Amino acid sequence: MPTTAKPAPFTVDDYAARMARAATAAAEAGLAGVLVALGPDLAWLTGYQPTAVTERLTLLVLSPDGPPTLIVPTLERPDAEAAAGAGAVTIRDWTDGSDPYAAAGALLRADGRYGISDSTWAMHLLGLQRNRPGTAYLSLTDCLPMLRAVKDADELERLAAAGAAADAAYEEILKVRFAGRRETDVAADLAGLLRRFGHEQVDFTVVGSGPNGANPHHEAGERVIEAGDAVVLDFGGLLSGYGSDTTRTVTVGEPDPEVRKVHGIVREAQQAAFEAVRPGVPCQEIDRVARRVITDAGYGEFFIHRTGHGIGVTTHEPPYLVEGEPAPLVPGMCFSIEPGIYLPGRFGVRIEDIVTVTAEGGRRLNTTSHDLGLVS
Ligand code: ZN
Ligand code: ZN
Ligand code: ZN
Repeated sequence: MPTTAKPAPFTVDDYAARMARAATAAAEAGLAGVLVALGPDLAWLTGYQPTAVTERLTLLVLSPDGPPTLIVPTLERPDAEAAAGAGAVTIRDWTDGSDPYAAAGALLRADGRYGISDSTWAMHLLGLQRNRPGTAYLSLTDCLPMLRAVKDADELERLAAAGAAADAAYEEILKVRFAGRRETDVAADLAGLLRRFGHEQVDFTVVGSGPNGANPHHEAGERVIEAGDAVVLDFGGLLSGYGSDTTRTVTVGEPDPEVRKVHGIVREAQQAAFEAVRPGVPCQEIDRVARRVITDAGYGEFFIHRTGHGIGVTTHEPPYLVEGEPAPLVPGMCFSIEPGIYLPGRFGVRIEDIVTVTAEGGRRLNTTSHDLGLVS
């Protein structure tokens, strides 16, 4: 059972280092700076993550021209000042009735090119462009894709704890009755288990039984699970602010021989991709290795998604293990390896572990058995 002891919180120095890293990376990329509105990037950089979504502009400005500056609505100032990284930023507020884009624009170079967080609302970007017509903007994921990709030891500790908690939830779900219950019932059990093992947030609990398993993004529905079904279980959320995401496929009683065969192929693909992980290997190579196993077995057309995605303070982020991504693996990167085979109208199989890159190779953060799980 995973420990429930929470890791020590990040310090103001951690946040200061991240903001400095972002400003440096921006300068190296030829940018005038990085602009970050409310969302996971802001939480990662400053620790500021208000629970209420607001339409009022909140914007962190990181540039080599000055200290990190966070622009917030006046009424949010006390909350922003309480954020763990607040000591590393200059906070400026704007009052209702004044122009927040003028306040933000005053911090920008008139002709600067800026990276801007992907989750910035369009109305804010349009407001900045109106106020500073000479500026240009790039999606942060396009211009600095690997900004959050390499995790430090404290982040890895959190990701490992999230993975261990998800594994504990899987061990428990194997003891639960599946036959005769709806997918949504098992999904609710999974969500409860993730919380019981320490997750503060449950993001998804996929229960894809029988033909529903052939749709990789099926969540859980009203279908009643039957004896003989293959069931794809893919679940995760956040623990101490960091994500878990694991998939196992189980069968209700004895599996159909083709389920067993397909499961064996997916398992081999997952293992081969894992063994290919080491520093310097291009991301797309991991996808190719997994795909080759499945294609050679004759099921290539049924592996209909990329092999994996990065994970951190969000469950999908760079690096993406996908054809066309030449970026090399770097120690500290964390991502899923999740090949699958989906036979329309029949069943699906997917096996997913979170893996981190070490100096020598890869280390799994999910360690439950890859055997075809058996449930009743
Ligand atoms: Zn997904
Ligand atoms: Zn998943
Ligand atoms: Zn995933």
